[in-house]
Amino acid sequence: MRFLPVFLDLQAGPVILVGEGELAQAKLRLLLAAEARVRWFATDGNHDVSGFDAASVARIERGSGDPLAADLSNVIAVVCAGAGETGHATAARARSIGIPVNVMDEVAHSTFIFPAIVDRGDVVVAVGTGGASPVVARRVRERIEALLPARIGDLAGFIGRWRSAIKLRLPEMALRRLFWERVIDGPIGADVLAGRTEQADQALASISNPALFARSVGAGFVTLVGAGPGDPDLLTVKALRVLQDADVVFYDDLVSPEILDRARRDAALVPVGRRVGKPGIGQDAIHRLLIEAAQSGKRAVRLKGGDPFIFGRGGEEIAALRAAGVAYSVIPGITAGLGAAAESEVPLTYRQEALRITFLTAHKARDAGNVDWSALTDTKMTVVVYMGMTAASTIREGLLAAGRSPQTPVGVFARATRRDAKSVVGVLRDLPALAAQVEPGPAILIIGDVVARSAAWRNANPEELISELLMAAE
Ligand code: SAH
Repeated sequence: MRFLPVFLDLQAGPVILVGEGELAQAKLRLLLAAEARVRWFATDGNHDVSGFDAASVARIERGSGDPLAADLSNVIAVVCAGAGETGHATAARARSIGIPVNVMDEVAHSTFIFPAIVDRGDVVVAVGTGGASPVVARRVRERIEALLPARIGDLAGFIGRWRSAIKLRLPEMALRRLFWERVIDGPIGADVLAGRTEQADQALASISNPALFARSVGAGFVTLVGAGPGDPDLLTVKALRVLQDADVVFYDDLVSPEILDRARRDAALVPVGRRVGKPGIGQDAIHRLLIEAAQSGKRAVRLKGGDPFIFGRGGEEIAALRAAGVAYSVIPGITAGLGAAAESEVPLTYRQEALRITFLTAHKARDAGNVDWSALTDTKMTVVVYMGMTAASTIREGLLAAGRSPQTPVGVFARATRRDAKSVVGVLRDLPALAAQVEPGPAILIIGDVVARSAAWRNANPEELISELLMAAE
């Protein structure tokens, strides 16, 4: 660590800004946002403040004359941005009398550097790389931005307002810390983060015995989380946040190791999936595990491939949780069909060509035998089949018998959005053969004219592309 991060109170005295143009303007914006008084020496003489509101302009003092001769008494910091050689000379002077100085992008001339900042009101996160790479700092900041709830600043403010009152009632520090942890992790914290501050205030005010509250086991809960089709970057921001907060994660086979990597380091990871053909631990046993975890005060995550409510038995799980009186919530995920379509550029709907979508499952030939194929013959309907690999020939027979054309474009999208994704396209007549071309692993079948618009189709049928180009040229 070459620089120590500290938070500076800029209201304590003026900051001197030396420089011109967009670089100086950017620093001016930042300093004013932190409520600084700024004495600005515009090296080109242009003190343009047109972008600032009246209150900000009132805090800008126009420095005149040579910044090298400026009065530095009471100055908290000197900032040079777009100031060229004048910046270096000013910095040397500031250093010689011990005033913190920053020359933009020049660590060698600086005694402090500006971090990348996440600003959520009372909560501020500073990210630095010792001046080595502002781009890396910004990337880290983006990650943190995504992790922090939007109202985290409100939560800090809320606790700030109650802090001294609670301190009087709970003088013992360790107990007080427990108290605040319970508040943050429980329904009161959730209320603040959801913007229901009044409700949170009422709930906190109604705690009659803070010591008892602090020692009570917080009620646990279960979050059903959709993990998406495989690519960890397709997790939602909410899913990521909940994973980072979990005590225990019950996950399916379909959840990729890269996604489990994003869970909190010390969370317990419990596999509960069933592989095709092999029995899993059973749905009832999963319900029991979830209920027990919540009842022992844990923050449990039920992590499912894709979306929890698409062929994921999420509906049964929340019914069991409801029956047991366990609190839960559901976070949607990108379902495999949508992930596969986006990755392979299959527009599932298309003006005038595909007006409807059906998602269906055909796990076993027996299930496939139960499908009402006559409802799927509409040529303007795209059919997305989950778990349809072993039943590929039954699906073909069903659709053909119901009258769908054997020339209907179809695609098999295996391990979509994963590193080892593979897709093959062709026509309905050849569906079983196509399905046999991809190695084992989860796969989605898409049936409908729009498959001919996919990237895989374009690659497989270059001659069509040429005729399309010729037609466009005519
Ligand atoms: N809830 C999940 C579906 C679970 S059913 C979702 O919304 O995606 C399991 C089936 O999903 C698999 O048999 C396969 O058809 C499909 N599937 C899941 N992940 C997939 C992936 N990465 N690529 C292709 N198909 C996938």
